Amino acid sequence: MLNVKLFVFNPFQENTFVLSNENKECIIFDPGCYSSEEQNELSEYIETEKLQPILLINTHCHIDHVLGNNFVTGKYSIPLWIHKEGLPLLQAAPVYGQTYGVQMIPSPPPDKFLDESDEVILGNEKLQIFFVPGHSPGSICFYSKEHKFLIGGDVLFYESIGRTDLPGGNHNQLLTNIKEKLFKLDDDTVVYCGHGPETTIRHEKKHNPFLVG
Ligand SMILES: [Zn+2]
Repeated sequence: MLNVKLFVFNPFQENTFVLSNENKECIIFDPGCYSSEEQNELSEYIETEKLQPILLINTHCHIDHVLGNNFVTGKYSIPLWIHKEGLPLLQAAPVYGQTYGVQMIPSPPPDKFLDESDEVILGNEKLQIFFVPGHSPGSICFYSKEHKFLIGGDVLFYESIGRTDLPGGNHNQLLTNIKEKLFKLDDDTVVYCGHGPETTIRHEKKHNPFLVG
């Protein structure tokens, strides 16, 4: 059993996910919590559900996805895992934040770099990793084959795709990765996106204007 809980945080309306199992262990993906109210919303959920966070993962290191890294690692003393190509963005996030008027406490350094040869384990459950640069150089997605869902970050959105005009973005690389990796997944796979509503691979194959045809 896996439960996926969504929070929408910070001025960028970023989706933070908490993935938990029946043993009440959880992994926090992309903690975008910024204000103290948002931090409380996340920690109250974890407390109310009696969850034990074991791991923090960033699907990529754009500022809206890492704003709460310092809060989460400080509160729960859990390791941070990212793809190594995300490290420059993680380190630069506080400076980027200033250009948006966002004051950010720097993230701690990652404890481990993930790539496609790794798996993420939560109890009896395994998540497969896809390395899908294009929106950002260090974008990774997490796939549960058994439960048919993908935590996708800012790669694929409901009838849209991640922007590619930020440093390290590459439009053609993003389209190729979506077609060659995500569109190979079962059509029923639910995609939990980094912004906006969830979608399915089937829906995006049919209706995504960047990818049909
Ligand atoms: Zn992003």
